[in-house]
Amino acid sequence: MSEPSRRVLSPPAIIARKRDGHVLTPEEIAAFVRGATDGSWADYQLSALLMAIYFRGMTPAETADLTSAIMRSGAVADLSAVRRPKVDKHSSGGVGDKVSLHLAPMVVVCGVAVPMMSGRGLGHTGGTLDKLEAIAGFRVDLSLAEFRDQVDKIGAAFIGQTAELAPADKKLYALRDVTATIECIPLICASIMGKKLAEGIDALVLDVKFGRGAFMPDRARARELAAALVAIGHAVGKPVRAVLTAMHEPLGRTVGNALEVAESIACLHGQGPADLMEVTLALGEQMLLLGRVAPTAAAARRQLLAGVASGASFAKFREIVAAQGGDVRMLDDPARLPAARWREPLGAPGGGWVQDVDARKVAVAALRLGAGRAKAEDRIDPAVGVGALVKIGEKVEAGAPLCLIHANSPEALAEARKVLAEAIRIGPSPGVAPALIGEVTE
Ligand code: URA
Repeated sequence: MSEPSRRVLSPPAIIARKRDGHVLTPEEIAAFVRGATDGSWADYQLSALLMAIYFRGMTPAETADLTSAIMRSGAVADLSAVRRPKVDKHSSGGVGDKVSLHLAPMVVVCGVAVPMMSGRGLGHTGGTLDKLEAIAGFRVDLSLAEFRDQVDKIGAAFIGQTAELAPADKKLYALRDVTATIECIPLICASIMGKKLAEGIDALVLDVKFGRGAFMPDRARARELAAALVAIGHAVGKPVRAVLTAMHEPLGRTVGNALEVAESIACLHGQGPADLMEVTLALGEQMLLLGRVAPTAAAARRQLLAGVASGASFAKFREIVAAQGGDVRMLDDPARLPAARWREPLGAPGGGWVQDVDARKVAVAALRLGAGRAKAEDRIDPAVGVGALVKIGEKVEAGAPLCLIHANSPEALAEARKVLAEAIRIGPSPGVAPALIGEVTE
């Protein structure tokens, strides 16, 4: 319960109140979010309050106030002119999670509009915007008017948090990324729901990940996150469904921006890895059900697969990329995507079965190669990463490649090789990954 409103305190006093375990008032939370938006709070003050929230937590009422303040930190898109149902999907963050790229066009060809506001890489996880920017010329900074027009005409647009939509999340997200304050349920909830509710959507599907590569490794905590996210949806009257999915090993066979774009293109040509397609279809089914364009999950799956088989989904992705200034020749011929100078295999130390591929360690290897950021101002190298990864349970011969390391410096290559050798374990019997798709919370 929030305390009765009173004079809004200075940043240090608000920080001290949360540090000491008090419940912040809506006015104090609004002051914090205003400070993030207009620059009146210094980064160290914002970071200090984020850390205090990390340790002290927030009540459901505080989380709802933070969500609403983030949503209102900019405009709320009015997409009422878009006649199709508008359903978005958001992931709580994973390794090799490029689902949004191919899922959006797959869903659009089934009759649902997808206004998608995504993030950049966060912590060890990749971000949809960074992946899309591996396509030369791709613009994620559409104005609100451009966003609205594109969703209306083409059915989907990918944008980042802008000065217009949820600007507070842009600032807080970047600070959390570099201050070890990501893994916190109220902050994740407010970040995801604050920006998603600013998009003008009718409904939302969330991919809440658990396992080593997720921000909530523990399944029970991930379930808690799913329930908290869905509760915010209920509170504002938006249908929200959360699908629990495993993030034990990387999703698909690539980690790294251009490599992941190429893998998404393969999905749109019906050649995606089985695990990646399974997660894609599980989320797509829920989007079609919430958009009321399919009567059952099985029918939704058939529609999604038909769009891929006919080539319509790839054509739609091409249309979206072209509309946002991206070089579609890179989609037609993925060999044109940014490529690293060195591509070296990591050989299996002996024959046997893949017992483990540790998602978090693979993510660390990709970060060392330059695929992510250590500091907010770091530049990402779109070309580097890890490709052709083996999956848990596969058989390998001695010396056979366990993955291909894409590097732009010999030092980074050597470091990544060391980390990957620890991440991938080969043994005398096949490892078993946890079931990929868990329960749906609604
Ligand atoms: N995705 C977001 O948008 N925000 C988070 O805090 C985590 C994942």
